[in-house]
Amino acid sequence: MRGLTFQGNGNVSVEDVADPVLEAPTDALVQISMAGICGSDLHVLHAGEAFGFAPGARLGHEFLGTVIEVGPEVRGVTPGDRVLVAVGVSCGHCIWCQEGLRASCEQMSMFGWAPRLWQHGGVVEGGQSEFARVPLADSTLIAIPETVSDAAHETMILPIIDVMSTAMHGLVTGRLHPGDDVVVIGDGAVALSAVHCARALGAENIICFGHHDDRIALARRLGATATSDLRDAEEIAEFARNATRGQGARVVVDSVSNTDSMQAAHGAVRPGGTISCLGMDHFMGKTPSVNWFDQFVRNITISGGLVPMGLYIPRLLELLAEGEIDPSPLLTDILPLADAADGYGMMAERRPGVVKVALKIS
Ligand SMILES: [Zn+2]
Ligand SMILES: [Zn+2]
Repeated sequence: MRGLTFQGNGNVSVEDVADPVLEAPTDALVQISMAGICGSDLHVLHAGEAFGFAPGARLGHEFLGTVIEVGPEVRGVTPGDRVLVAVGVSCGHCIWCQEGLRASCEQMSMFGWAPRLWQHGGVVEGGQSEFARVPLADSTLIAIPETVSDAAHETMILPIIDVMSTAMHGLVTGRLHPGDDVVVIGDGAVALSAVHCARALGAENIICFGHHDDRIALARRLGATATSDLRDAEEIAEFARNATRGQGARVVVDSVSNTDSMQAAHGAVRPGGTISCLGMDHFMGKTPSVNWFDQFVRNITISGGLVPMGLYIPRLLELLAEGEIDPSPLLTDILPLADAADGYGMMAERRPGVVKVALKIS
């Protein structure tokens, strides 16, 4: 089969790769219909060697498709079922899975990501390819409801797997309630997802700070009530306070999470509020320094972090079926698998108009 492979820092390409086969009685094989390229895949593109990627490793952790074969111990899905794959493998019954902390599952492995970081259950190849082996299929696969399982809904469902789930994690751990004000820092796919989820959850003012005109226009389309291209932390804080009756926002979603964005977030959050950190710059060694004094005296909570895989997907599928969300505008470009390397390039260059690239595979 064909699959997107890492070929050393700065280089990915679609190659002939081995067909996956069932390796354990709890595995399933999935024929992939559509896969996404994630912002975190760009970290692999740029610096995969530091994370333990070897040439030939297959990437991709956002994908959906059709089950074609299951092992004898799989109970929850059968061939022909339309499914999405929840970013990483989890067992569903260890203490961490039971608490909803699936990213800490004792058997957690992430599809196509970081062999040195997240492979408790063994290396699992990525899904930017024609087929994928899915371990622990009963808990790792999530069935797509029949009403939205057709090809026409794929572009609405794909963003739910990772970026919308991550955004939801930021808002839920940020303790967002209907009527609260939300500030979103950044204008990438996770930030825009946070805007869209905040609207669905009943936020009142949704203020998005970003620097790209096309993305800011998309933020407004997805639910932002105010937008700004300010960069200075003091100016961002003033803008946020002016848009929230002088108080600051109950929840600030910081999709960047570096020192500058954290400073802006502290200025924009109200006393007793929460800053949800969803950015991954620290993976590249850029650990933010945080104003602990301000955090302490104003009783600010830091939340967010890595999304527990799959946790929010049922709720997001419900919101989608109810017509409360349509994240398909996040997929600005849909390419065939053969052009996947171009898709990485378009996202890495931040080409105008490009937010997130999806690969239509079958
Ligand atoms: Zn991702
Ligand atoms: Zn588990």
